[in-house]
Amino acid sequence: AKRTAAGPVVEFDLSMDTARLERLALERDLAQALEIGAFELAYQPQASLQDDAWTGAEALIRWRHPERGFVSPADFIPVAEETGMIHKLGAWVLHQACQDALHWPEAIKIAVNVSPLQFLSGDIVGAVHSALASSGLDPQRLELEITESAFVGENHRLSGIFDELLALGVSFALDDFGTGYSSLGYLHRFPIAKIKIDRSFVTDIPESRHSMAVLRSVVVLARGLGIRTIAEGVETASQAAVLREIGCGEVQGYLYSKPLDIVRSTELFEKGSRM
Ligand code: C2E
Ligand code: CA
Ligand code: CA
Ligand code: CA
Repeated sequence: AKRTAAGPVVEFDLSMDTARLERLALERDLAQALEIGAFELAYQPQASLQDDAWTGAEALIRWRHPERGFVSPADFIPVAEETGMIHKLGAWVLHQACQDALHWPEAIKIAVNVSPLQFLSGDIVGAVHSALASSGLDPQRLELEITESAFVGENHRLSGIFDELLALGVSFALDDFGTGYSSLGYLHRFPIAKIKIDRSFVTDIPESRHSMAVLRSVVVLARGLGIRTIAEGVETASQAAVLREIGCGEVQGYLYSKPLDIVRSTELFEKGSRM
């Protein structure tokens, strides 16, 4: 696009500027949203395949922006991570989720997504402790979802952080399992209670022999290690039937429920089992 020194070059620079300005505006709006409390949590129910009972819910953050409308967490979580705002945002999520879970029956756990950055460079122990203390939630009801990227590189503080969090009474689920740097060593070295099998392995079952093989192996491996399994993104009855047959423990996805606000999730859980 740089054939002459005139127009095209200027155009190029302008578009770069537009992207940078847009990014700066997003950062500004995000910081402001944190100040004024413009975030909400939605809760997506999780169910046991053994007895059809609801077992928990995953907290999923929502940002309703006055002009942008609904902004996806996939778009703003990375910005929050790059700017360091993730620590304050993550602490808010922990507080709100623990507070909201008090409305549900005691058998229902709350799963909270934790950014690897919160683990590696923030005071995650302090944030979890504070959320538990201020809400009074039973720590055994809180599950932290972490992705494999939290384990990348040798971080000597990591084991200590896990130990401190375990001592608080919370448990860990390994999110998006199968998509990342999957090293089976993580399952052995860190106190993972639950594996969340990524949606990409659920979407194309039972047709895909590859996904079927991965699912079967993960379930067998997890059982051998005493780790529970949950499949995410379950959308059809035939996917659920396959997962049940394979021996997957729990499910989450549109087939069972979309993410709900706190009022509707409470109504659902109070009705009891899902059938
Ligand atoms: P994730 O943790 O893998 O969450 C699952 C995503 O799949 C959610 O998207 C959920 O709404 C969506 N989903 C659930 N069931 C189905 C289904 O049956 N089919 C399909 N196609 N999708 C389904 P969402 O809410 O847009 O969140 C996107 C990502 O943003 C999450 O992926 C997570 O990585 C991140 N995220 C969300 N909330 C938080 C948070 O509070 N803190 C942090 N650090 N990250 C968050
Ligand atoms: Ca998750
Ligand atoms: Ca996931
Ligand atoms: Ca994901």
